[in-house]
Amino acid sequence: MTKETETLCLEHAEETQLKNQTPTQNASVESPEQTWVSNSGTEGELEELTPKELKERISFSDFLKRENHYVIKSGKWKKILCPFHHERTASFCVDDEACSARCFGCGWYGDIYDFVMEDRDLGFRDAFIHIAGKASQSPKAVGAKKPSKIAKRKGISLTKQETETIQAACKKLADHEHLWDRVASKRGWKPETIKKLADEGVLGWNQGALAFIYETGMKLRNWPHRDFLWEFGVPSVWRRGQIGEATEVFICEGETDAISLIDKGLVDDPTIAVIALPSASTITEDLSILVSGKNVTLCMDNDEAGERATEKLIELLEPVCASLQTFNFEEVA
Ligand SMILES: [Zn+2]
Repeated sequence: MTKETETLCLEHAEETQLKNQTPTQNASVESPEQTWVSNSGTEGELEELTPKELKERISFSDFLKRENHYVIKSGKWKKILCPFHHERTASFCVDDEACSARCFGCGWYGDIYDFVMEDRDLGFRDAFIHIAGKASQSPKAVGAKKPSKIAKRKGISLTKQETETIQAACKKLADHEHLWDRVASKRGWKPETIKKLADEGVLGWNQGALAFIYETGMKLRNWPHRDFLWEFGVPSVWRRGQIGEATEVFICEGETDAISLIDKGLVDDPTIAVIALPSASTITEDLSILVSGKNVTLCMDNDEAGERATEKLIELLEPVCASLQTFNFEEVA
Protein backbone atom coordinates (compact mmCIF):
# COMPACT_ATOMS: atom_id res chain seq x y z
CA MET A 1 0.00 0.00 0.00
CA THR A 2 1.33 3.45 -0.86
CA LYS A 3 1.60 6.21 1.71
CA GLU A 4 -1.14 8.13 -0.11
CA THR A 5 -3.60 5.27 0.00
CA GLU A 6 -2.94 4.79 3.68
CA THR A 7 -3.64 8.48 4.38
CA LEU A 8 -6.86 8.32 2.39
CA CYS A 9 -7.93 5.29 4.26
CA LEU A 10 -7.34 6.96 7.60
CA GLU A 11 -9.19 10.04 6.41
CA HIS A 12 -12.12 7.91 5.43
CA ALA A 13 -12.10 6.14 8.77
CA GLU A 14 -12.18 9.49 10.58
CA GLU A 15 -14.96 10.84 8.37
CA THR A 16 -16.99 7.73 8.97
CA GLN A 17 -16.47 7.92 12.71
CA LEU A 18 -17.92 11.44 12.63
CA LYS A 19 -20.88 10.31 10.59
CA ASN A 20 -21.38 7.36 12.91
CA GLN A 21 -22.73 9.83 15.45
CA THR A 22 -26.00 9.75 13.56
CA PRO A 23 -28.15 6.93 14.94
CA THR A 24 -28.87 5.07 11.71
CA GLN A 25 -25.30 4.97 10.55
CA ASN A 26 -23.40 1.88 11.51
CA ALA A 27 -21.13 1.19 8.56
CA SER A 28 -17.96 -0.56 9.62
CA VAL A 29 -14.54 0.40 8.39
CA GLU A 30 -11.85 -2.17 8.11
CA SER A 31 -8.32 -1.76 9.30
CA PRO A 32 -6.09 0.72 7.44
CA GLU A 33 -3.75 -2.18 6.61
CA GLN A 34 -6.47 -3.63 4.40
CA THR A 35 -5.71 -3.61 0.68
CA TRP A 36 -8.61 -2.37 -1.37
CA VAL A 37 -7.21 -2.51 -4.79
CA SER A 38 -9.20 -5.15 -6.56
CA ASN A 39 -7.34 -8.27 -7.56
CA SER A 40 -10.16 -9.57 -9.68
CA GLY A 41 -13.58 -8.65 -10.94
CA THR A 42 -12.69 -5.24 -12.38
CA GLU A 43 -10.65 -4.40 -15.39
CA GLY A 44 -7.49 -2.50 -16.12
CA GLU A 45 -6.78 0.88 -14.59
CA LEU A 46 -9.68 0.90 -12.13
CA GLU A 47 -7.76 -1.65 -10.10
CA GLU A 48 -5.06 0.92 -9.50
CA LEU A 49 -7.26 3.72 -8.18
CA THR A 50 -7.26 4.99 -4.62
CA PRO A 51 -10.67 5.25 -2.91
CA LYS A 52 -10.66 9.01 -3.49
CA GLU A 53 -9.83 8.64 -7.19
CA LEU A 54 -12.58 6.07 -7.62
CA LYS A 55 -15.08 8.50 -6.06
CA GLU A 56 -14.03 11.05 -8.69
CA ARG A 57 -14.38 8.48 -11.48
CA ILE A 58 -18.09 7.79 -10.98
CA SER A 59 -20.65 10.23 -9.57
CA PHE A 60 -22.82 8.98 -6.70
CA SER A 61 -25.98 9.44 -8.78
CA ASP A 62 -24.54 7.63 -11.82
CA PHE A 63 -23.62 4.79 -9.53
CA LEU A 64 -27.21 4.67 -8.22
CA LYS A 65 -28.54 4.55 -11.80
CA ARG A 66 -26.24 1.63 -12.45
CA GLU A 67 -27.69 0.00 -9.35
CA ASN A 68 -31.12 0.33 -11.00
CA HIS A 69 -32.42 3.10 -8.75
CA TYR A 70 -34.74 5.58 -10.42
CA VAL A 71 -32.93 8.91 -10.03
CA ILE A 72 -34.94 12.15 -10.02
CA LYS A 73 -33.21 15.49 -10.59
CA SER A 74 -34.20 18.22 -8.14
CA GLY A 75 -32.15 21.41 -8.37
CA LYS A 76 -28.64 20.72 -7.21
CA TRP A 77 -29.80 17.42 -5.70
CA LYS A 78 -30.63 14.04 -7.14
CA LYS A 79 -33.20 11.95 -5.32
CA ILE A 80 -34.11 8.30 -5.04
CA LEU A 81 -36.54 6.32 -2.92
CA CYS A 82 -34.57 5.57 0.23
CA PRO A 83 -33.43 1.94 0.39
CA PHE A 84 -33.07 2.15 4.18
CA HIS A 85 -36.66 2.91 5.09
CA HIS A 86 -40.06 2.44 3.50
CA GLU A 87 -41.33 5.50 1.63
CA ARG A 88 -43.48 6.51 -1.30
CA THR A 89 -41.93 9.90 -2.02
CA ALA A 90 -38.21 10.13 -2.66
CA SER A 91 -36.38 11.75 0.24
CA PHE A 92 -32.92 10.24 -0.20
CA CYS A 93 -30.98 13.24 -1.53
CA VAL A 94 -27.63 12.88 -3.24
CA ASP A 95 -25.12 15.68 -3.55
CA ASP A 96 -22.81 14.64 -6.39
CA GLU A 97 -20.40 17.49 -5.75
CA ALA A 98 -19.78 16.39 -2.18
CA CYS A 99 -20.26 12.72 -3.11
CA SER A 100 -22.52 12.32 -0.10
CA ALA A 101 -26.17 11.62 0.53
CA ARG A 102 -28.69 12.24 3.25
CA CYS A 103 -32.14 10.77 3.75
CA PHE A 104 -34.61 13.32 5.06
CA GLY A 105 -36.94 10.51 6.06
CA CYS A 106 -34.77 8.27 8.23
CA GLY A 107 -31.71 10.46 8.74
CA TRP A 108 -29.19 8.20 6.98
CA TYR A 109 -26.04 10.08 6.03
CA GLY A 110 -22.89 8.97 4.30
CA ASP A 111 -20.79 8.77 1.14
CA ILE A 112 -20.81 6.25 -1.68
CA TYR A 113 -18.70 3.76 0.30
CA ASP A 114 -20.97 4.00 3.36
CA PHE A 115 -23.92 3.49 1.04
CA VAL A 116 -22.59 0.29 -0.52
CA MET A 117 -21.35 -1.09 2.81
CA GLU A 118 -24.78 -0.62 4.37
CA ASP A 119 -26.91 -1.45 1.33
CA ARG A 120 -24.99 -4.62 0.48
CA ASP A 121 -23.65 -5.43 3.93
CA LEU A 122 -20.06 -5.36 2.72
CA GLY A 123 -16.74 -4.34 4.25
CA PHE A 124 -14.88 -1.38 2.81
CA ARG A 125 -12.69 -3.42 0.47
CA ASP A 126 -15.59 -5.29 -1.09
CA ALA A 127 -17.55 -2.04 -1.39
CA PHE A 128 -14.59 -0.53 -3.26
CA ILE A 129 -14.49 -3.50 -5.62
CA HIS A 130 -18.24 -3.31 -6.17
CA ILE A 131 -18.12 0.41 -7.01
CA ALA A 132 -15.09 -0.10 -9.28
CA GLY A 133 -17.07 -2.79 -11.10
CA LYS A 134 -19.97 -0.39 -11.68
CA ALA A 135 -17.61 2.40 -12.77
CA SER A 136 -16.15 0.12 -15.44
CA GLN A 137 -19.60 -0.56 -16.97
CA SER A 138 -20.40 1.23 -20.17
CA PRO A 139 -22.98 3.98 -19.49
CA LYS A 140 -25.05 2.65 -22.40
CA ALA A 141 -25.53 -0.60 -20.52
CA VAL A 142 -27.23 1.25 -17.70
CA GLY A 143 -31.00 1.17 -17.46
CA ALA A 144 -32.81 2.68 -14.51
CA LYS A 145 -36.15 1.11 -13.81
CA LYS A 146 -39.17 3.34 -13.60
CA PRO A 147 -40.62 3.39 -10.10
CA SER A 148 -43.61 1.20 -9.45
CA LYS A 149 -47.08 2.77 -9.45
CA ILE A 150 -47.24 2.70 -5.67
CA ALA A 151 -43.93 4.58 -5.44
CA LYS A 152 -45.19 7.25 -7.81
CA ARG A 153 -48.39 7.80 -5.88
CA LYS A 154 -48.04 10.73 -3.58
CA GLY A 155 -49.46 10.31 -0.11
CA ILE A 156 -52.69 8.51 0.57
CA SER A 157 -55.84 8.67 -1.52
CA LEU A 158 -59.02 9.26 0.39
CA THR A 159 -62.11 7.21 -0.35
CA LYS A 160 -65.10 8.84 -2.04
CA GLN A 161 -66.99 8.77 1.26
CA GLU A 162 -64.11 10.42 3.14
CA THR A 163 -63.86 13.14 0.49
CA GLU A 164 -67.61 13.78 0.81
CA THR A 165 -67.34 13.95 4.61
CA ILE A 166 -64.60 16.58 4.26
CA GLN A 167 -66.59 18.64 1.75
CA ALA A 168 -69.66 18.55 4.00
CA ALA A 169 -67.57 19.55 7.05
CA CYS A 170 -66.06 22.58 5.25
CA LYS A 171 -69.43 23.63 3.89
CA LYS A 172 -71.04 23.36 7.34
CA LEU A 173 -68.41 25.64 8.88
CA ALA A 174 -68.36 28.08 5.96
CA ASP A 175 -72.17 28.40 5.96
CA HIS A 176 -72.68 29.01 9.69
CA GLU A 177 -71.54 32.35 11.01
CA HIS A 178 -72.25 31.38 14.63
CA LEU A 179 -69.67 28.59 14.27
CA TRP A 180 -66.97 31.03 13.04
CA ASP A 181 -67.72 33.17 16.10
CA ARG A 182 -67.66 30.18 18.42
CA VAL A 183 -64.29 28.93 17.14
CA ALA A 184 -62.71 32.38 16.83
CA SER A 185 -63.79 33.79 20.20
CA LYS A 186 -61.97 31.07 22.18
CA ARG A 187 -58.63 32.19 20.76
CA GLY A 188 -59.26 35.85 20.03
CA TRP A 189 -59.18 35.27 16.27
CA LYS A 190 -61.26 37.17 13.73
CA PRO A 191 -64.36 35.17 12.68
CA GLU A 192 -63.58 35.93 9.01
CA THR A 193 -60.31 34.01 9.35
CA ILE A 194 -62.28 30.88 10.21
CA LYS A 195 -64.62 31.44 7.26
CA LYS A 196 -61.61 31.96 4.94
CA LEU A 197 -60.02 28.69 6.07
CA ALA A 198 -63.31 26.81 5.70
CA ASP A 199 -63.63 28.15 2.14
CA GLU A 200 -60.04 27.12 1.51
CA GLY A 201 -61.00 23.58 2.54
CA VAL A 202 -58.65 23.19 5.51
CA LEU A 203 -61.11 23.76 8.38
CA GLY A 204 -64.50 22.16 8.88
CA TRP A 205 -67.15 21.23 11.40
CA ASN A 206 -67.94 17.58 12.04
CA GLN A 207 -69.78 15.81 14.88
CA GLY A 208 -69.98 19.05 16.86
CA ALA A 209 -66.22 19.59 16.74
CA LEU A 210 -63.69 21.66 14.82
CA ALA A 211 -62.14 19.56 12.04
CA PHE A 212 -58.67 20.10 10.64
CA ILE A 213 -58.59 18.98 7.04
CA TYR A 214 -55.45 17.50 5.50
CA GLU A 215 -54.93 16.20 1.98
CA THR A 216 -54.41 12.87 3.71
CA GLY A 217 -57.24 12.85 6.24
CA MET A 218 -59.30 14.63 8.87
CA LYS A 219 -58.46 15.35 12.50
CA LEU A 220 -61.10 16.33 15.07
CA ARG A 221 -60.81 18.24 18.29
CA ASN A 222 -61.67 15.74 20.98
CA TRP A 223 -64.12 17.70 23.15
CA PRO A 224 -64.03 18.33 26.05
CA HIS A 225 -60.37 17.31 26.13
CA ARG A 226 -57.64 19.47 24.72
CA ASP A 227 -56.36 16.80 22.37
CA PHE A 228 -57.25 15.67 18.85
CA LEU A 229 -58.27 12.44 17.18
CA TRP A 230 -57.75 11.36 13.59
CA GLU A 231 -61.22 10.57 12.30
CA PHE A 232 -59.60 8.97 9.24
CA GLY A 233 -56.43 9.18 7.20
CA VAL A 234 -52.85 9.79 8.27
CA PRO A 235 -50.87 12.84 9.43
CA SER A 236 -49.07 14.97 6.86
CA VAL A 237 -48.63 18.75 6.49
CA TRP A 238 -51.61 21.02 7.15
CA ARG A 239 -52.16 23.51 4.24
CA ARG A 240 -49.55 21.70 2.20
CA GLY A 241 -51.28 22.93 -0.97
CA GLN A 242 -50.43 26.53 -0.06
CA ILE A 243 -46.69 26.02 -0.40
CA GLY A 244 -46.73 25.98 -4.21
CA GLU A 245 -44.93 29.04 -5.51
CA ALA A 246 -44.54 30.75 -2.12
CA THR A 247 -40.99 31.86 -1.38
CA GLU A 248 -41.44 32.23 2.38
CA VAL A 249 -42.76 29.32 4.43
CA PHE A 250 -43.67 29.50 8.12
CA ILE A 251 -43.80 26.06 9.72
CA CYS A 252 -45.89 26.00 12.90
CA GLU A 253 -46.32 23.35 15.55
CA GLY A 254 -50.02 22.57 15.41
CA GLU A 255 -52.79 24.10 13.36
CA THR A 256 -53.88 26.62 16.02
CA ASP A 257 -50.52 28.40 15.98
CA ALA A 258 -50.73 28.54 12.19
CA ILE A 259 -54.25 30.00 12.41
CA SER A 260 -52.94 32.68 14.79
CA LEU A 261 -50.36 33.76 12.20
CA ILE A 262 -52.95 33.64 9.42
CA ASP A 263 -55.28 35.69 11.62
CA LYS A 264 -52.57 38.36 11.84
CA GLY A 265 -52.76 38.76 8.06
CA LEU A 266 -49.57 36.92 7.22
CA VAL A 267 -51.11 35.11 4.25
CA ASP A 268 -52.49 38.18 2.53
CA ASP A 269 -49.18 38.12 0.64
CA PRO A 270 -49.24 35.21 -1.86
CA THR A 271 -45.48 34.70 -1.59
CA ILE A 272 -45.97 33.63 2.04
CA ALA A 273 -47.29 30.22 3.08
CA VAL A 274 -48.18 29.31 6.66
CA ILE A 275 -48.29 25.57 7.20
CA ALA A 276 -48.46 23.34 10.27
CA LEU A 277 -47.16 20.02 11.45
CA PRO A 278 -49.90 18.11 13.30
CA SER A 279 -47.60 17.94 16.35
CA ALA A 280 -43.98 18.49 17.35
CA SER A 281 -43.27 14.80 16.89
CA THR A 282 -44.89 14.46 13.45
CA ILE A 283 -42.25 15.51 10.98
CA THR A 284 -43.17 13.91 7.69
CA GLU A 285 -40.50 12.72 5.35
CA ASP A 286 -41.46 14.86 2.37
CA LEU A 287 -41.22 18.18 4.25
CA SER A 288 -37.67 18.76 3.03
CA ILE A 289 -38.80 18.35 -0.58
CA LEU A 290 -41.82 20.64 -0.11
CA VAL A 291 -39.76 23.54 1.26
CA SER A 292 -36.58 22.98 -0.74
CA GLY A 293 -35.14 26.27 -2.03
CA LYS A 294 -37.48 28.43 0.09
CA ASN A 295 -36.91 30.82 2.98
CA VAL A 296 -38.18 28.91 5.97
CA THR A 297 -39.13 30.15 9.42
CA LEU A 298 -39.65 27.59 12.18
CA CYS A 299 -42.33 28.53 14.72
CA MET A 300 -42.21 25.74 17.27
CA ASP A 301 -43.40 26.01 20.88
CA ASN A 302 -41.12 27.16 23.65
CA ASP A 303 -41.18 23.82 25.45
CA GLU A 304 -39.05 20.70 25.44
CA ALA A 305 -40.96 19.03 22.59
CA GLY A 306 -40.81 22.24 20.56
CA GLU A 307 -37.08 22.59 21.09
CA ARG A 308 -36.48 18.99 20.03
CA ALA A 309 -38.61 19.54 16.93
CA THR A 310 -36.68 22.71 16.08
CA GLU A 311 -33.37 20.84 16.36
CA LYS A 312 -34.61 18.03 14.16
CA LEU A 313 -36.06 20.42 11.59
CA ILE A 314 -32.84 22.45 11.40
CA GLU A 315 -30.90 19.27 10.72
CA LEU A 316 -33.39 18.17 8.05
CA LEU A 317 -34.06 21.46 6.32
CA GLU A 318 -30.91 23.53 6.58
CA PRO A 319 -29.18 21.74 3.68
CA VAL A 320 -32.11 22.27 1.30
CA CYS A 321 -33.59 25.68 2.26
CA ALA A 322 -32.54 29.04 0.85
CA SER A 323 -32.54 30.31 4.42
CA LEU A 324 -33.72 29.03 7.76
CA GLN A 325 -34.61 30.98 10.88
CA THR A 326 -36.47 30.36 14.07
CA PHE A 327 -39.19 32.56 15.43
CA ASN A 328 -40.50 32.87 18.95
CA PHE A 329 -44.18 32.40 18.51
CA GLU A 330 -45.19 33.71 21.95
CA GLU A 331 -43.97 37.19 21.03
CA VAL A 332 -46.77 37.69 18.52
CA ALA A 333 -49.43 35.26 19.70
ZN1 LIG B 1 -34.32 6.82 4.53
